[in-house]
Amino acid sequence: MSHIPQNLTVLGSTGSIGVSTLDVAARHPDRYRVLALTANGQVDKLIEQCLLHRPRYAVLAESERLGDLRQGLRDAGLGDVEALAGVEALEMVSALPEVDAVMAAIVGAAGMRPTLAAARAGKRVLLANKETLVMAGRLFMEAAQHGGATLLPIDSEHNAIYQCLPQPFDDAPAQGVRRILLTASGGPFRRFTAEQLEAVTPEQAVKHPNWSMGRKISVDSASLMNKGLEVIEARWLFGLPPERISVVVHPQSVIHSMVEYVDGSVLAQLGNPDMRTPIAYGLAWPERIDAGVAPLDLFQIARLDFEQPDAARFPCLGLAFEALRLAGAAPAVLNAANEVAVAAFLDGRLGFSAIPVLNESVVRAVAADFDADSLDSLIAADAAARRAADDWLGRRDG
Ligand code: NAD
Ligand code: MG
Repeated sequence: MSHIPQNLTVLGSTGSIGVSTLDVAARHPDRYRVLALTANGQVDKLIEQCLLHRPRYAVLAESERLGDLRQGLRDAGLGDVEALAGVEALEMVSALPEVDAVMAAIVGAAGMRPTLAAARAGKRVLLANKETLVMAGRLFMEAAQHGGATLLPIDSEHNAIYQCLPQPFDDAPAQGVRRILLTASGGPFRRFTAEQLEAVTPEQAVKHPNWSMGRKISVDSASLMNKGLEVIEARWLFGLPPERISVVVHPQSVIHSMVEYVDGSVLAQLGNPDMRTPIAYGLAWPERIDAGVAPLDLFQIARLDFEQPDAARFPCLGLAFEALRLAGAAPAVLNAANEVAVAAFLDGRLGFSAIPVLNESVVRAVAADFDADSLDSLIAADAAARRAADDWLGRRDG
């Protein structure tokens, strides 16, 4: 079958999701053409990707190394690639008229503005950057609706749920759904005692048992903050209140999530833990394409286990439910506090068990001061939360 190739912008192309996206796209050159690639500082990797994928634009988040990028592109014989920098340039390549689909795979709140730009411009938005929905869920969903965007969740759990919901999803979002069951691997410390958790190192925390991911999300997976952020993400994507979202620990990471219907049916999506499956689904929807993922070997997996999450050892999960209950800017505040906490943990300045302590303290101190009615208010809440988190770290050190 022949296709008119879709033009792709890959935001965060040098990251784990970005690299997997380019891998899937390159398997289908008749379907996808890379129009823009973006990164944050990893100039050499970005140039390598430009050599392979020949985009029209290469964009850096900050202008500091724009000169290096331009020089490197010229040296590589890629003088026709336009090198740009800054958040306006990220927004521009997300909204260009010739762009069909945008992979939103920048990590953290930094991804919000370009992701929002893609939604407003009515693109097919492949949403990996969960922090956008955590920060500005209502505004983002409204922007996507007004812009006529097609939202395809890439987070494996949400992608699984999307696949298990009636299609087309937009007509009758949660028709007949009793609840959704988000699966969680439990992370590398699932069996650790509270004492053992006190002593874990960044090296241990970034080694996920089943998934290979960026450092920030790996730490979030270890603390169950990632599952908490995903509960908030699901609340907005699927329009379900928190009491209809349950978390199930499933250590094999073979079932990527489930939907329970009122008639007692439970639909699950299964597969090997490889992000190229949800990425390929998002790229080709409603069709299916080869993702380069090995077939699931059920005989080798042999069994699937399920457990309750332990809220006492992993307080970040409960904090996310609490932030949803508080509503307003509380999820944005929690997200920002957590970004500071994770960075401090990775720097060796904060113990693993102190991550939820810092997060909770910042939510209590800051959340009530802001509403979620405008982007400006959410950006101010994010900034205030980061200041409060820095102060907390300073007080503790002082
Ligand atoms: P990563 O750290 O591997 O890559 C992040 C990308 O964002 C890189 O290209 C980096 O250059 C860019 N970036 C970082 N800071 C930036 C900034 N300030 N401005 C602009 N660009 C910036 O992260 P990842 O694991 O690929 O995750 C990306 C997003 O996808 C995250 O929101 C994560 O929660 C989500 N996600 C990832 C996975 C996974 O398996 N890796 C699964 C589900 C969801
Ligand atoms: Mg996930």
